[in-house]
Amino acid sequence: MEKKVGLITGANKGIGLEVARQLGQMGITVVVGARTLAKAEAASAKLKMEGIDAWPLKLDVTDSADIQALPGFFATHFGGLDILINNAGISLEFGSNGGPALKPSEVSLDILRRTFETNYFAVLAITQTLLPLLRKSPAGRIVNHSSILGSLNIHSDPAVDLSAFKSLAYNSSKTALNALSVHLAYELKETGIKVNSAHPGWVKTDMGGEAAPLTVEQGAKTAVWLATLPAEGPTGGFFHEEKPLPW
Ligand code: NAP
Repeated sequence: MEKKVGLITGANKGIGLEVARQLGQMGITVVVGARTLAKAEAASAKLKMEGIDAWPLKLDVTDSADIQALPGFFATHFGGLDILINNAGISLEFGSNGGPALKPSEVSLDILRRTFETNYFAVLAITQTLLPLLRKSPAGRIVNHSSILGSLNIHSDPAVDLSAFKSLAYNSSKTALNALSVHLAYELKETGIKVNSAHPGWVKTDMGGEAAPLTVEQGAKTAVWLATLPAEGPTGGFFHEEKPLPW
């Protein structure tokens, strides 16, 4: 492979689309994963108009057939994969005011299961499926788009304002995702692959809402930095704007 290739899941809008744009602007070929081919094509067409080498890919992260097809797609078109950004995520408990609409004692198992399906199990399945290709890359990078809301240090400290944001399903799915980053980074510590969790900040998107202070351009920076870390960069960490966050 001459050019680096990256896959960004949930890249049809929001922070994922902007991560694809910023990586593309660095000369990296970006594969725009989206729930439907139409969404992937619309987003990659937008990026191509900006001069970015973007490829559309139908990837519903909870669809096992889409996941099974991944190695064949990357092997055929690019001969490998260098960067995996696990960005697709859902929050089913946020109310219209941006805060949690359900208390931990009220949230249903259905909401918990659906949230974990996208935010955790899908990430694990996609990562395991693509790991053989990432292992062949000279600088494999896995970035898991987590959230500061997954931090147990913060949730167990009543002095921190954010600790009042107790959306159990979303928060615990990101806590589990952080555990995946740590465990996989340990397993891969003798390889060139780095695995890190990124908190984008509170970003103005459909998920973050209008009140969020950060733009998608700002929100994408942490994942882009982790996706392009040099060989001496960190692995198994949790970061926002190049600074470590509490677990
Ligand atoms: P967003 O605007 O709601 O975008 C979420 C993306 O994930 C969309 O492209 C969505 O696709 C995709 N997605 C969800 N389920 C999917 C599935 N089954 N298959 C494929 N794609 C799927 O959210 P965002 O704010 O950009 O968030 C991106 C990531 O950052 C998420 O993991 C989120 O948890 C994390 N994060 C965001 C903030 C924030 O303030 N915005 C803060 C901390 C962490 P559709 O358009 O088809 O639904």
